[in-house]
Amino acid sequence: MSLHELVGHREGRLAVARAFDAGRLPQALLLHGAPGVGKQRFGLWIAQLLLCGKPSAEGPCGQCQGCRLAMRIEHPDLHWYVPVKRPPSKGSPQRDDEALEEARQSRIQELRSRPLQPTHSSEPLGLHLGTIRNLRRRAANRPSMASRQVFLVANAEELVSQEASPEAANALLKLLEEPPESLTFILTSAEPGRLLPTIRSRTSSLYLPGLPEEAVSTFLQEMRGVEASKAEATARLASGSIGRALGYLPDEGEGDGPLEALRKESFRLLRDALSDDPAQRFSRALQYAPSGARGLRELLLGLEVWLRDLAAARTSPEALLNRDAGDWLVRTVEELGIDPAAVARSMEALHDARAQAAGNVNPQLLLSGLLIRLNRTLVPPRPTSLAGMEERLRESGAPRRSG
Ligand SMILES: [Zn+2]
Repeated sequence: MSLHELVGHREGRLAVARAFDAGRLPQALLLHGAPGVGKQRFGLWIAQLLLCGKPSAEGPCGQCQGCRLAMRIEHPDLHWYVPVKRPPSKGSPQRDDEALEEARQSRIQELRSRPLQPTHSSEPLGLHLGTIRNLRRRAANRPSMASRQVFLVANAEELVSQEASPEAANALLKLLEEPPESLTFILTSAEPGRLLPTIRSRTSSLYLPGLPEEAVSTFLQEMRGVEASKAEATARLASGSIGRALGYLPDEGEGDGPLEALRKESFRLLRDALSDDPAQRFSRALQYAPSGARGLRELLLGLEVWLRDLAAARTSPEALLNRDAGDWLVRTVEELGIDPAAVARSMEALHDARAQAAGNVNPQLLLSGLLIRLNRTLVPPRPTSLAGMEERLRESGAPRRSG
């Protein structure tokens, strides 16, 4: 299977193609931008340009053997390093490195056969030290078909976080310092702030902005056969990111995509936060495992979108992202008397929860604390409770309180 056409990013393409044409393309690039915005696809496009037999100032020719192999991710001089789950140890560093290379190859094989995959992972993935050792070994070889080798390193920020030491990043750094002329490195990152400053300073960065909603919607219709109104609603949720949009679509026809499942899960959190039954909040929190808070990151991001929608429901319903829940949001905000200013204050509770998740606090404690705080911030105290009690007393025939 061949890669889909690169969508959007016209300015970035022209900048790269012209620099390459003029012999001024830096040997180490850093592509950054929001998750799923097309950084891998753009990096593969640059690789294709570099491996093309007849490139122009507009881009690769798209016809030659180099182009065709690059489009199928089969070019022997194109090396794509993607984060993988760490395989179980094989007992020696050398065999561990081999296992990491096997894991990478099987992931690339998966991407070849199914290039349209959502930008989302529920498992901890990393660019491990062994992976970078493998990369360095490969970089020491001569190119086998073209005049150069291209290394595309996805999610470069994972170089540090998974190792809890800058070792993997330093191993790559040595190559970036003085790359041989036949090597080009393309690093990508959605969180360039987490890269080592030394890595940032040795790469020329190119920012990839989000795509227009319409481009995402058209892509979903053409490439995934999504019906127009569904494609528009999905593009809206994905805020300019094809990779995220794919995560809201059904997973190979089986159930919800990973981001859609998280959207529904974060909605249940919001509903329980707003409920007048505290027991509901506790039982929700207890449904989570007592460890693994880092996995809550996407869920908390989903909750943030719901909170934004809660504020928008009162002030500008046309700006809602979760359009399918528009009626519920507008009604809930009215019934509970939720003030947009309170929603803004509630974001603080969410930010605290995110910091706790990064620090691996027990998820049950984290979520029950968060839901209680959200309830206190969002739902105004009800002066109606006394009136309600009086009403019930009246209905039961009890005498009314006088004065
Ligand atoms: Zn070509």
